Amino acid sequence: DAAMYAVKRAGRGSYRVYTPELDTRAHDAELRRAVENDELVVHFQPVVTLAGGDITAVEALVRWNHPTRGLLMPGAFIDLAEETGAVIPIGEWVLLDACRQAAGWRAANPDAESLRLSVNLSARQVTQTALVDIIRNILAETGFPADRLVLELTESVILQPDEQTVARLNALREMGIGISVDDFGTGYAALSYLRALPVSVLKIDRSFVTGIDTDPDVYAVAEAVVRLAQAYRLHVVAEGIETAGQAAALIEMGCVSGQGYHFARPMPGEDLAAKLSSSVPAGRPGRA
Ligand code: C2E
Ligand code: MG
Ligand code: MG
Ligand code: MG
Repeated sequence: DAAMYAVKRAGRGSYRVYTPELDTRAHDAELRRAVENDELVVHFQPVVTLAGGDITAVEALVRWNHPTRGLLMPGAFIDLAEETGAVIPIGEWVLLDACRQAAGWRAANPDAESLRLSVNLSARQVTQTALVDIIRNILAETGFPADRLVLELTESVILQPDEQTVARLNALREMGIGISVDDFGTGYAALSYLRALPVSVLKIDRSFVTGIDTDPDVYAVAEAVVRLAQAYRLHVVAEGIETAGQAAALIEMGCVSGQGYHFARPMPGEDLAAKLSSSVPAGRPGRA
């Protein structure tokens, strides 16, 4: 489509014709270089008990510290990475870096030993033949325990899993790794997959949390999701909690865990480590 071609200045007086395809390729190359040049950063958002605010888990969320554009959120690059396959090296790097940092917190702070680490997995990663070996190697290399790791998959990823994908997820589950359904309720998946797959956690999407304390219909739907999770014996985490009112409504319907700006925003690993060492659980002596 000629209308979509753009001519850009490429250095002094010379012009090159860029097609959308070349543009995608250029972005892809930039993204892959970003991994090699250590431009990616993992931030961590606490998952807390809604009633007590205790940190029980953290979710690893990738950012790109771009040399000229500043800190980019995943919304600015993860879809392209998924499309081109760059999400494979990115995802592997995130897993390694997050496990390494979390292993460090455990070594420095006994209170961090029960902390779970959630890492988002993309559709491409889940269909990767080597996935189980890659994760096993990362756990061995970092010393992070399998039973503290949770992998987050969206419904679209597990919509129609092929046999090998189911086998991979079962293998991960057998290692003790948790499998979480992210953004639950936003996909088109039939609920039957909850029985077919070794899922252990349901994350209620933010769209069911917004308005939960003001709109009775939203409350009713969120409550139905909580009951559903209970029926499947899954742990429930509510996402995107921004107000005390939303947290109270979730507590009322029996949801135990959640994450959101009301409790804490995603933050660099150093900040999270500091937060962990300053929050001493009740009944334990404080540290100097
Ligand atoms: P997600 O896994 O559902 O992560 C939750 C997103 O909601 C994060 O956005 C988080 O910063 C944001 N959030 C948390 N609390 C609140 C709140 O109270 N209000 C609002 N409005 N937002 C809140 P973020 O970090 O921009 O990530 C967006 C998405 O990008 C993630 O959604 C996940 O699907 C994807 N993503 C992030 N990191 C990775 C990664 O390492 N690999 C892959 N494949 N995807 C990732
Ligand atoms: Mg997630
Ligand atoms: Mg989510
Ligand atoms: Mg969400």
